[in-house]
Amino acid sequence: MDLPGPAAIGPASVLGSDPVQAIVKVLREGERFLVCSHSRPDGDAVGSVLAMGMLLEQMGKRADLVTADRVPIVHRAMPRADSIRTAHRVHGPYDAAILLECDGLERTRLQGLEKFFLINIDHHASGRMFAHINWIDREATSVGELVHRLILAAGATVTPDIATCIYTTLLTDTGGFIYGGTRASTFGLARDLVLAGADPIAIAQNVYFSTAMSKLLLLGAALNNLRREGRLAWLWITHQDMVRTCAVEEDCEGIVNYALSIADVEAAFLLRELPEQRIAVSLRSKGKLNVAVIAGRFNGGGHGNAAGCTLAGPLGRAMDQILVEMRSALADLASDRA
Ligand code: 5GP
Repeated sequence: MDLPGPAAIGPASVLGSDPVQAIVKVLREGERFLVCSHSRPDGDAVGSVLAMGMLLEQMGKRADLVTADRVPIVHRAMPRADSIRTAHRVHGPYDAAILLECDGLERTRLQGLEKFFLINIDHHASGRMFAHINWIDREATSVGELVHRLILAAGATVTPDIATCIYTTLLTDTGGFIYGGTRASTFGLARDLVLAGADPIAIAQNVYFSTAMSKLLLLGAALNNLRREGRLAWLWITHQDMVRTCAVEEDCEGIVNYALSIADVEAAFLLRELPEQRIAVSLRSKGKLNVAVIAGRFNGGGHGNAAGCTLAGPLGRAMDQILVEMRSALADLASDRA
């Protein structure tokens, strides 16, 4: 395929102003693609990568699906979930690398991507134009929703397997159709996907009723560390908690929401000790407080109501840093309301 190399073109698309048509053109003209998403893949990452892989297969293309971390157990029931490989470095004769749900190359934690023609499809508030073709739609509830639009634009069929993957992205990235951003069109798409063969009950059971015992034990440990101060609540997980409960990284998913679920709490965060004295931070808010801005101050990112970053330890120091920012953001919000 005759495409300019990354060094030859700038971040804006050279293939026309409509990124969807530009992406379809690249997919039609190419033969072999790399499809990847962020490290610690969640439901949207896994579902959109799988749906994109199936689109490429329908178009008669070859696709390698790669993430830096393994597919979480709750998402292994998605069709063809075992086709996603884990790697830390990527290489191959790809016509393009398609990055889904990544606001930068570093989010993939994959090395070797820089040399490819890059397509970036994202919906984060912190989304950036880092690729050769950038399609960032901050209104989309999931990147799976964007892959669905791409499938229609390419004239491909939404098979039951594709519908299942995309429905999972909708369900998980809206927290079960409850987060901000959920709108009538979300339910319209969910309906279309169910009509195309997604089974909402089976999918919900896989996502919400397949919890590992270790996760519940870890939740108990985290709830022991729950603190509240007015409209702010927070909790933390130590390395020792992880070891004692035999928990794995994916068991931390969703724990921050227990702090946010407290009545009258508007913002919450979870801190988690990682190896090498690093601290993973999950930030959440219910209303207007924009946690992506706070995460951005620590080189993280995400959405207005759900964002994250990684800080240097120890835990107490990271907690103080986040507390300062969250208290100040809540105080600003209170003075705006007064
Ligand atoms: P979580 O708290 O569930 O890990 O992440 C919440 C949101 O923030 C997700 O959309 C995730 O992609 C984003 N996010 C989490 N950690 C980081 C980070 O270190 N950098 C960036 N850019 N985004 C992050």
